[in-house]
Amino acid sequence: MKERHSEAIERATTDLRFEHWIDGESTDSADGTTFETTDPAVSMPIASVSSGKSTDIDRAVSAARGAFEAEWRKTTPRSRAKRIREWTTLLRARVDELARLESLDTGKPLEYARDEVGDTIEYLEYYASVAQAHEGAHLPQGTDNHVYIRNEPYGVAGQILPWNYPLNLFGWKVGAALAAGNTVVCKPSEEAPLSITRAAQLSADALPDGVLNVVNGFGTEAGAPLTQHDDVDKLSFTGSVPVGKQVMTAAADGVTPVTLELGGKSPFVVFPDADIEQAATTAAAGIFYNTGQSCDACSRVLVHEDVHGEFTDAFLAATDGWTAGDPLLEGTTLGPLTFEEQHDKVSKYVDIGREEGATIVYGGESPAGEYDDGQFFEPTVFDDVDNDMRIAQEEIFGPIECIITFGDYEEAIELANDVEYGLAAGVATRDATTAHRAAADIRAGSIWVNEYHGGGPGIPFGGFKASGIGRECAKQTIDEYTQSKAVNIALDDPV
Ligand code: NAD
Repeated sequence: MKERHSEAIERATTDLRFEHWIDGESTDSADGTTFETTDPAVSMPIASVSSGKSTDIDRAVSAARGAFEAEWRKTTPRSRAKRIREWTTLLRARVDELARLESLDTGKPLEYARDEVGDTIEYLEYYASVAQAHEGAHLPQGTDNHVYIRNEPYGVAGQILPWNYPLNLFGWKVGAALAAGNTVVCKPSEEAPLSITRAAQLSADALPDGVLNVVNGFGTEAGAPLTQHDDVDKLSFTGSVPVGKQVMTAAADGVTPVTLELGGKSPFVVFPDADIEQAATTAAAGIFYNTGQSCDACSRVLVHEDVHGEFTDAFLAATDGWTAGDPLLEGTTLGPLTFEEQHDKVSKYVDIGREEGATIVYGGESPAGEYDDGQFFEPTVFDDVDNDMRIAQEEIFGPIECIITFGDYEEAIELANDVEYGLAAGVATRDATTAHRAAADIRAGSIWVNEYHGGGPGIPFGGFKASGIGRECAKQTIDEYTQSKAVNIALDDPV
């Protein structure tokens, strides 16, 4: 596996520099520092990446401000859409290159990375179209006044991203901000900067200089200065709850509007009338896709006591389909965790689950043999889980499922809602009334009935409770990147 990865790294990075992208060019950090990004499948370094500090953020914000005032704020939605589509044409020609970079950087199976790059492009195109379709309002005020609403971009949007779906989330955020007429300074995660940096470079012949800027680096060194910057007009953050709170505090200091997309501990509720086989397959994909590193992973399965045995057997059989493999090989379903600390965290939670008295009925270890060098972890299933246990309450962000039983509908809903999060939920039932009632009673931003992880351009995504504020992926996201201005005009008497 090492040889294959070594060759792939060589091929993916030759002639490329992973610096910041500021004002339409690749540029090193002012202090010249870099950090290394690592391939988690084999623990080999991939590339050196510029490590940004507040000086680099200042440069990027200044470039974004300049581009906003000089050009971008004055453009029509049509011309912005044209520029964005020109960029997507350039991205489309490089899907394999971007997917390879992302797969090496995150450990994501190459096939999945390819699909996600395709999704990124679709989101960008969607926002370009939605911005064009946006309409304003005229407010009737009799005959002596003319009142209308302008929806104006905020200005410079500061966007901070996590590492689990780097390019996809970049598409969600950047697409909405640019299409609405803002310019952007984006800070990717230090754990997965490569595909985003490359995608930004590919905007050179499409977007005017300074409209899109990317500053790489660590959270406290590059992220925090972006959130505290006086000249940033809108913040959008995707990541963990603790850091989200810090971002919101910084936003409060500057009275800056903020969108937060945070963590989850989403339930998948299996009612006794469900198609059990289908529910098991769906729930397994719902937790194990991306090695469990999805904000909306269904990390708690709530199953009715009457079908607990049947469901668990079917779920364990479905889990067999998620086995560790080389992310570069076609057919691999479960890559490594994205970095070593993430592996240690998952492993620690498995120990916690054992100590809390839950029963491991599948996995529980790091696979040995050729996977020894990487951050792999077996899909792991805990049964006999109580919803009060830490493994049921805290976001593990790994391939760990908790099976919890319930006795009736009321208990199912109580358990589903009894976490601090409210990002998503799955419901498996053949009964339309149960489906609609549960959809209304579960407090979460996405409800999937007899499916999981559904979504796409146009379908709002975001959280209730501690899972966040605001919605991505949809028409309303454009609204979150604009503010309204009421223009009141007194009309003179006719001459
Ligand atoms: P994280 O909060 O550790 O980091 C996210 C980003 O914030 C990184 O770019 C990091 O460098 C930066 N950062 C860290 N400290 C900062 C600070 N003080 N100020 C400003 N920026 C700072 O999260 P992560 O580990 O990268 O991502 C995993 C988390 O993201 C999980 O909780 C997951 O559920 C969540 N997530 C949510 C969604 C969603 O749409 N709701 C999507 C994907 C991931």
